[in-house]
Amino acid sequence: MNLTQLPVSIRLDQLSSGQHHWQGSLPAQQMPRLRELVIAVESAGAQFTIEASSAGVTIQGSCQARAQLHCERCLQAMTTEIVSEFELTAVDTPEQADALEADRLAVVAPRGELDVCAMVEDELILGLPVVARHEDVNCSEAPRAFGPAGAEAQVKRENPFDVLAGLKTRPSDDVE
Ligand SMILES: [Zn+2]
Repeated sequence: MNLTQLPVSIRLDQLSSGQHHWQGSLPAQQMPRLRELVIAVESAGAQFTIEASSAGVTIQGSCQARAQLHCERCLQAMTTEIVSEFELTAVDTPEQADALEADRLAVVAPRGELDVCAMVEDELILGLPVVARHEDVNCSEAPRAFGPAGAEAQVKRENPFDVLAGLKTRPSDDVE
């Protein structure tokens, strides 16, 4: 990635009405909570649009990062791409966030100052895989498969029409 760096913070209260686009990278050292959850953050970036109007400020965009995690199966390092999309309403206080409609997510920007790093870091943490695991071919603890994957399952699967056919023939056998 050869992006310009995003500003550490944006003054929402100084934006003119309308849409403002931002795109760039973020320094991993400014995301300590994310770094605590992974082995290393290799790169991180975001792009978003801030829409300011008399009704308020919304922020819509996406962010992504490349990070090293521990594979939960073999405990070796694995590199994963984290991607997260977000649509947030900027509020001044946590109390205002609680007062929002249930389907709207908030980002708290005290006194109109949006902490860009913290916002993106939150979204990246939400985007972390629930279970981090290598693809089987890359994992040193993956069960060794014999034959093409899924072949066994196909053999075991019963044709539902065979079962129906069996049900149909049985009553006629009883009649005889
Ligand atoms: Zn593994």
